[in-house]
Amino acid sequence: VGSSDLTMVGAYLDRNLPPSLGVPEVAFLGRSNVGKSSLLNKLVSRAAGDTARVGKTPGATASVNLYALLEQSKNKGNNNNRRRPDGGESSPIIGFADLPGFGYAKLSKDTKESVEEAAERYLGRRRELALGVLLVDSRRVPNADDRAVLAALFDMGVPLIVVATKSDKLKINEVETAMATIRDGLGLPDGQPLRVSGVTGEGVRDLWRIILDACET
Ligand code: GDP
Repeated sequence: VGSSDLTMVGAYLDRNLPPSLGVPEVAFLGRSNVGKSSLLNKLVSRAAGDTARVGKTPGATASVNLYALLEQSKNKGNNNNRRRPDGGESSPIIGFADLPGFGYAKLSKDTKESVEEAAERYLGRRRELALGVLLVDSRRVPNADDRAVLAALFDMGVPLIVVATKSDKLKINEVETAMATIRDGLGLPDGQPLRVSGVTGEGVRDLWRIILDACET
């Protein structure tokens, strides 16, 4: 991908699903602080260059925050402009849905229900959804919340990859045990979780490959 940019399409908390971008979407799930924005930034800067950034979600309780990775029409010498003052065309390549409300959010009971309902509606009904990426911290033992989220995604038929974030924080001799703990705790197949780091970029190339494969099928 050449000159690209990531743009927030909108934050949604209601019965309506976000408008379709006409391209496949990848949903990111995980508790706050797990490293979601860092990983998204690493993914996007790999595709789009270092200028692309995912902002922190303004409304933390929104159920679906949809971003589009846009490919800008070719226009030499204009790479530093994130917006297109010349009105150049930009077309979405892929959508990223951040679902902070799903499973982990600490919310009042009423808010929790509406936020989770909207996220469930997205996960259960979104035709564009090609892949769910569930983030868990490399150093943590999976708990009941993690298992509940995984089971719910499975029930909804969401194709899923589990990634273990902040892999750079593990010492080399801790890696195998940590991955086995997550694999066993969540009942994952061999090869998962995929180790990723938003700091070193470990696993980011592999994750892109998995995302692109899911989007093509
Ligand atoms: P989010 O709440 O899930 O979006 O998490 P952030 O991406 O904001 O990260 C939460 C904290 O963990 C921040 O202090 C980050 O600097 C740190 N962090 C995120 N990813 C990594 C990583 O891969 N390695 C290390 N060492 N720290 C990370």
